Amino acid sequence: MKRREFIKQTGIGIGVLALWGPQVFSAHAGEILPKKGRRVVVAGGGFGGATAAKYLKLIDPKLDVVLVEQRERFISCPVSNMVIGGFKEMKDITMDYKVLARKYGIKIVNAQMTGLDATAHTIETSAGKIAYDRLIVSPGIDFMYENIPGMDPQAQALFPHAMKAGDQTVQLRRELVALVPGQNVIITIPEAPYRCPPGPYERACMIAHYLKQNKKGSRLIILDANEDVVSKGKLFKAAWKDYYEGIIDYRPDSTIKKVDVATRSIVTVAAEVQGGVINIIPDQKAGLLAFQSGLVPPKRRWVPVSALSFESPIHKDVHVIGDATDGEVIGSMPKSGFVASTMGKAVAASVVAMMSGREPLPPSLANTCYSMVNEREAIYVTGVFEFDARTKKMAGVKAAGGVSPERSERLGIQAEDWARSIWSDTLG
Ligand SMILES: Cc1cc2nc3c(=O)[nH]c(=O)nc-3n(C[C@H](O)[C@H](O)[C@H](O)COP(=O)(O)OP(=O)(O)OC[C@H]3O[C@@H](n4cnc5c(N)ncnc54)[C@H](O)[C@@H]3O)c2cc1C
Repeated sequence: MKRREFIKQTGIGIGVLALWGPQVFSAHAGEILPKKGRRVVVAGGGFGGATAAKYLKLIDPKLDVVLVEQRERFISCPVSNMVIGGFKEMKDITMDYKVLARKYGIKIVNAQMTGLDATAHTIETSAGKIAYDRLIVSPGIDFMYENIPGMDPQAQALFPHAMKAGDQTVQLRRELVALVPGQNVIITIPEAPYRCPPGPYERACMIAHYLKQNKKGSRLIILDANEDVVSKGKLFKAAWKDYYEGIIDYRPDSTIKKVDVATRSIVTVAAEVQGGVINIIPDQKAGLLAFQSGLVPPKRRWVPVSALSFESPIHKDVHVIGDATDGEVIGSMPKSGFVASTMGKAVAASVVAMMSGREPLPPSLANTCYSMVNEREAIYVTGVFEFDARTKKMAGVKAAGGVSPERSERLGIQAEDWARSIWSDTLG
C-alpha cells in the first residue's frame, strides 16, 4: 500500500508513521499526538497489550486507541521452543503490527515508555509525551539477577534465558548447533511463578530431540528449583522416558547457588555441573516498566490489580494485565499468552464500561497451552477462571480444565492451529 493511501485509510498522521524504525528520540521530546477525544493508551504490545488495543476498538470504534511498543515487530514466545529445536524458523514466529493500524485505526507508536505521571494522565516515551484518559500497561517480565551469586546481564548474555523470544532464541539455537558432541547442555528452571509454567519442559524435549539426532554422547541436565515438574508433569515424564532415556537427566529441588562464568559451571546444593550450552532462566518479576511507573509496592515483585477491572490500587485510571500481574492478589493463574490475551479482552470491556460510567462486569479468563514433546506430538493443559465475589479473586472452575489424557500427533496439529489462531486474534 502506498504511504499516502495508508495514512488515508488509517487516519494515522505523519507524526506517528515517522515513529516507525530505529530512530533515536530525545528522552524529553514534547507532546505527540495531542488528545482530542476520549483516549486509551496501551503500553506494551505483546499478547496482553495488543489484544487489549484491538478489542478496545472492536467494542468502541470511536475510542482513540494508542499502542506504544518498543519493538518494531511482534515475536511470539509460543512456538519459539521449536525454533530452538530446529523445527521452525524465526520468520515463522515474527509478525508485524500494521494490520492493527490499518484495519482498526489503532495509532501505533514504536517507542519505549520511560515514565508515568498518573496525576497529569500522561506517559513519557522515547518519542515524546502522550496524554491518556485511561492507561493499560502489559509490560511482560524481567529477571532477578540478585537472587543468583555470579549472575548479571553479562553472564546472561553468555547463558541466554530465551524467555523473551528474539535474539536469545537465535543464540540458543546457534549454540546448540555448535555444541561439541559429548558436551552437556544445562537448563535451569526458577521457582514458580514464572512465565509459561510448561515452557522450560517443552524446551527440554526440543533440545533432547536435537541432541539425540545430532550430538552423540551429549546429555541435557535440567536443574529445577521446584520439587517436581510444574506443569503436565506425568505427560512430560512419560515422553522423557519413552524418547529421551539416557539423554535427559532431571534434577528437582536444584536451586542455583552460584554461577561461574569462567568455568561455565553452575553450583546447586547437591552438585556442581558444567555445560557446553547453558540456558539459565532466573527468577522473574514484573517487567521493568511496571517498577519505573511506580506500580509495584515496595518488596513485591509483581503488580497488584483489582481482579474485577485490572485497575491499579496505586494509580487511578491505570490498568495492568498479563504476566506482570500478582497472582497472590488477583488469584493464581498461569503466566501464559492465552491468559494475557483473555485479560486483554476483559480489560478492554472493563475500561469501555468505566469510561461510560458503568460498573465493570466480572471477567471470565481462560488458559490453553500446548507443548510439543517431539517434532510431531503434543500435550495440553487447559483452565477456566471466574471472578469469586467473596474473595474478590479469580478462581479456577473445577470441572472445566485439566490435561490431555495422552500425547498424540493429532494434538501436534492442534498445537499449530492454536498458535495461528491466537496470533490472528492478537494481531489480525
Ligand atoms: C518459550 C516460551 C514458550 C511459551 N509458550 C506459550 C504457549 O504455548 N502458550 C501460551 O499461552 N503462552 C506461552 N508462553 C507465555 C507467553 O509468551 C507469555 O505469557 C505472554 O507473552 C505474556 O504476555 P504479556 O503481554 O504479559 O507480555 P509480552 O507478550 O512479553 O509483552 C510485553 C510487551 O511489552 C513491551 N514492553 C516492555 N517494556 C516496554 C516499554 N518500556 N515501552 C514499550 N514497550 C515495552 C515488550 O517489548 C513486549 O512486546 C511461552 C513463553 C515462553 C518464554
